[in-house]
Amino acid sequence: MRFALTILGVNAATPAFGRFPTSQVLQYHNQYFLLDCGEGAQMRMSDFNIPRHKIRQIFISHLHGDHVFGLPGLLFSFDLKGRQEPLEIFSPIGLKEMILAQLRPGGMLSFPVHFHEIDASKPMLVFENAELTVQSIPLKHGIPTVGYIFQEKPRPLNIRPEKIIEYQLSIAQIKAAKAGNTILLENGECIENQELTLPPVPLRSYAFLTDTLYDEEVLPYISGVDTLYHDTTFCNDHLENATLTLHSTASQAAELACKAGVRQLITGHYSSRYKDLEVFFEEASAIFPNTVLGLEGNTYEI
Ligand SMILES: [Zn+2]
Ligand SMILES: [Zn+2]
Repeated sequence: MRFALTILGVNAATPAFGRFPTSQVLQYHNQYFLLDCGEGAQMRMSDFNIPRHKIRQIFISHLHGDHVFGLPGLLFSFDLKGRQEPLEIFSPIGLKEMILAQLRPGGMLSFPVHFHEIDASKPMLVFENAELTVQSIPLKHGIPTVGYIFQEKPRPLNIRPEKIIEYQLSIAQIKAAKAGNTILLENGECIENQELTLPPVPLRSYAFLTDTLYDEEVLPYISGVDTLYHDTTFCNDHLENATLTLHSTASQAAELACKAGVRQLITGHYSSRYKDLEVFFEEASAIFPNTVLGLEGNTYEI
């Protein structure tokens, strides 16, 4: 199952140097989730061949314009294309009012939109299907802001085919072994599950944390995640600005990645003060070597 992130927009606040405000698409097999929807997100989807009609869920971090101003345009386009499938939008409180106020004068949409407004003050399980769970966690950013953690659910174990033949396992016994159980044979022999099944595949996870101050309170939730995308609005030369505007620096994101023991860190939400983004990579990778520079149009395997 492919689990991959494509960045549509990676800039903070205003667009600059050809960079768009925050938006990303997370693909899990044939499911597409949109994370934030800054201005121009749907244009970026066309640029990067994202099948936008496959998006069923949208997760919004907070209501600053650089994370939501692409939504009315996207919803309007869905409507023009005759979309019928329902759409779910998750966000801190206030988005429904904001979006409906913009759409209502032009008539209502042809498809149902379910707004799920989240209490941003505490961690919550906000979405779940057969393959994934999505948890929201509080971030520190002045207005209600949440991070989202996408976590794969455990899948049934894979059975070793030769063991089916060796022990003449029945369908019921195979099912039980796949569920992790020990098997009792008719002759009274007990076969440990580890002998019958292949080692479980490690579960993958993705944490989307923007916009936020450096905050170690998130560590219990992001500990051991596979891929962490973290606010790196500034480098350390603007540490004071980062604190003042409730954002993080590349060094701070890298420190958090180290403490959380994640596999890889993706940087992003760059201030328009920076034309050259290499400084973010240099600063973060000096602390956390497995840093990758978040760039628009790039796809990162989780
Ligand atoms: Zn922002
Ligand atoms: Zn913000």
